This record gives sequence, C-alpha cells and structure tokens, in this order.
Amino acid sequence: MIEWNEQQRMIRDMVRGFVEKEVVPQLDAIEYEGVPPYAILRKMLQTFGMDAMAKMEFDKQIAREEALARGEAAPEKEKKEGFNAAAAEQAAMRMIPIIEICRHAQGLVTAMGVSMGLAGGAIMSKGTLEQKKRWALPLLTLEKIGAWAISEPNSGSDAFGQMKTLAKRDTDTANAGGYVINGAKTWITNGPYADHIILICKLDEDGVAPADRKIVSFILDKGMPGLEQSKPFKKMGINSSPTGELFLSDVKVGADRLLGGSETAYGRAGAKSTFMQERAGVAAMALAMVERSLELCVEYAKTRVQFGQPIGNNQLIQLKLAKMEVARTNLQNMIFRYIELVGWGKQMTLAEASAMKLYAAQACMEVTTEAVQVFGGMGYMREARVEQLMRDAKILQIYAGTDEMQVIAIARDLLSR
Ligand SMILES: Cc1cc2nc3c(=O)[nH]c(=O)nc-3n(C[C@H](O)[C@H](O)[C@H](O)COP(=O)(O)OP(=O)(O)OC[C@H]3O[C@@H](n4cnc5c(N)ncnc54)[C@H](O)[C@@H]3O)c2cc1C
Repeated sequence: MIEWNEQQRMIRDMVRGFVEKEVVPQLDAIEYEGVPPYAILRKMLQTFGMDAMAKMEFDKQIAREEALARGEAAPEKEKKEGFNAAAAEQAAMRMIPIIEICRHAQGLVTAMGVSMGLAGGAIMSKGTLEQKKRWALPLLTLEKIGAWAISEPNSGSDAFGQMKTLAKRDTDTANAGGYVINGAKTWITNGPYADHIILICKLDEDGVAPADRKIVSFILDKGMPGLEQSKPFKKMGINSSPTGELFLSDVKVGADRLLGGSETAYGRAGAKSTFMQERAGVAAMALAMVERSLELCVEYAKTRVQFGQPIGNNQLIQLKLAKMEVARTNLQNMIFRYIELVGWGKQMTLAEASAMKLYAAQACMEVTTEAVQVFGGMGYMREARVEQLMRDAKILQIYAGTDEMQVIAIARDLLSR
C-alpha cells in the first residue's frame, strides 16, 4: 500500500467533515469543562453505521461459536489465499476514524479504544460464549462504557511484579466457586464512568509465594457492593479521556465473572497480547497529531511576518517544518505497512510493534513541541491548539508501555534471536 485509495479518501473526508462539525465546536466542553466524551463518540458510531457493523461482526462470531458448541460444523470463516483485500480494507477503515479524531482530540480515541478495543476485545477474544453474550455487544457499540484495569499505585511498568490486588477463593457457601477481591487500581481510562471493568489481579492461594501467584481476570459491573469508582483525575492532557481510580473492598464475584471461565484463561499472556494491540494504535494517533501540527505550522509560517518577511523564509523554521514532514512520512508508511501486513495475514514481531510505538511516541512529542515553538507566544495560548497537541502527545510516551519499556522489549526480542 502506498497511499489511501479513492474510497478510503472519500470516507476520510466524510469523517473529517463530521469531526469538524460535531467535535471541534465541543472541544472546550470535553477538554476543559468535564463533559464526558461518550455522547459525541456514540453519535459518530451511529452516523457512520459503525455500531451496526460491530453488531453484524458480533452476530457472525456468536453464530459460529454456538454452532461449534452444538457440535455442528461452524459456518467456515472465509479463508483467502494470498492477499485478503477485505481484511486490509477493514484495517484501513479502523485507522481512518482514529486519525481523523486525533487531529483534534486524542482523548476521544483513548476513551473509545479502551472501551471497545481493550474491554470489549478482551471479552471477545478470551471470554466464554456466555460472557460474550452477556457483556460484549454493548461495549463494542459503546452503548456501555468499558475499562481495562491492570495498573496500581505501586505497579506500573512492573505490572505483574508489584501487583497487590488479590482475589481469594471464597469460603462462603453462598458464593461457592466464587472469589473475594481486595485492592486498588489507578490511572484507569474510563474508570470513573465504566459500566463494566476488566480487572486483572493476582490469585491469593495458601502456600503460593507472592512472586508465583497466578494472574486472573474478572468482569465487574458498576455498582457492585465494595467497588468504588473515583471522580476523574485532573491531567496534563487528553482531558477528553476520563481517567480515575478503582477501590475494591471485599468485592464478591461469582465464577461466572472469571474471564474465560478458568483461572488460566486471561493471565500474563492475555494481558500482554493486549499490549501489542495498543502499540499498533499509537502510531495512528501520532500520525494524526503530526499531520495536524504540520498543517498548522505551514500555514502560520506563511502568514506570520517578522523582520519584514514571513517566518517561513528563515532556514531555522524551514528545518523544523522539514523534520515534521520526515516524521509524517515515516508514520504514514508505518500505518500503510501495518494495513498491508493485515492483508497478508501476518503479525508484527514484538520488536517491530515496540519499535513502531517508540518511534511514533517520540516523533509525535518532538513535532508537537516544535509546533509550539514555530507559533512562538501564540503557541503557548490555548486558542492556537498546538499547545493541546503537545500536552496530548506526552501520554504516548507513557501509556501502553513507556518509552523505556519499549526499548527493553525491542532489545530483548533482538537479543533472543
Ligand atoms: C492518562 C493515562 C491513562 C492510563 N490508562 C490506563 C488504563 O486504562 N489501564 C491501566 O491499567 N493503566 C493505565 N495507565 C497506566 C499506565 O499504563 C502506566 O502509567 C504506565 O504503564 C507506566 O507505569 P507507571 O506510571 O507506574 O510508571 P513507572 O513504572 O513507575 O515508571 C517510572 C519511570 O521509570 C521508568 N522505568 C521503570 N522501570 C524501568 C526499567 N526497568 N528500566 C528503565 N526505566 C524504567 C519508566 O519508563 C518511567 O520513565 C494510564 C496512565 C495514564 C497517565
């Protein structure tokens, strides 16, 4: 893939039109006035039939799994030899809204991605058939809001090592086969508003040392006794993505809430496969913010006059614009490669996915910081919007694995070959 095709450009223009009409006028409300982002996101899904498409895909997968459960031959998942253009097209169509929204409000994509991709996706990939039918569809259509909670006050990059939230097998006969959970999670996207939460914790078993405890995951619902969801934190950026804490005090859960129906279904490997998925999405977010910074800067460099000439006539400013274009081209090519790989049914190695995330986050931070510089004093003002891009960019170097963790992942993968 070397460029967006005609149909993709048409969809991009339609989504761009929607964002400019429906999102941009609401930016102050969702970024600074505490208005939750979900109504705007739902409107977008409905406008473009994305909720109906999610339902269609959901129904197909459930029909296949029900047929299998009845012991019937499941309707064959279409297997295509060679390049699967439909799969590539679907990947492109997933990227376009991410890019278009992130040009103005990266937080919206974070809130949407965690709810639909991480929470809904975890249930669809690892949940039992019953769990999929009970919880997944409203998350995939954003009718309900989802959160995915692994981080804790003392366990971030070392998510499993320092994890203190524990599930203990319940001895209460009224909750036979169930668990009692205690602990706390922090920096949880959608935490304040989540209807359903994928909670990743450790299993507290007699005689098992803390370092050897199993990782288990549960699906929790808002309002369960003992579960408290904090108010949104005040943050540096992505304020259109609410982030908060979860407190768990003797939360009793039945075995029906154990993700995948067993203590081994969604453990360390399950949570790690989610890291990979997140890393690929970050490149699309970075591309959007770099693209937008460049557009704003080119325009400003042509029109802002100092010393009797547009600032764009200065080589120092030209160098900044040129470096932005280098980053934009690289990120664009990474996205095209990702879509092409999906078409060929190939996976990125951990090193490549991590390298893409590391480059994307650093390039985005560098470009957006330079964008503020190109704008001078105006760049420091909220109305110029480049300051928001800079604040929003910083999170890309922190969540979904910090820059330092990406370096470690790349090096480990390379050195293990
Ligand atoms: C806005 C926002 C949204 C988030 N959303 C979610 C969410 O939805 N769900 C969720 O579970 N979590 C979420 N997080 C948490 C996020 O994943 C963590 O913040 C991240 O993993 C880093 O962990 P930490 O903050 O504890 O930093 P730490 O792990 O304490 O790291 C501090 C610094 O030390 C560095 N460091 C740590 N270990 C090493 C090492 N071995 N070598 C070199 N350097 C090292 C780190 O790179 C970093 O620079 C979110 C965070 C934010 C800010």
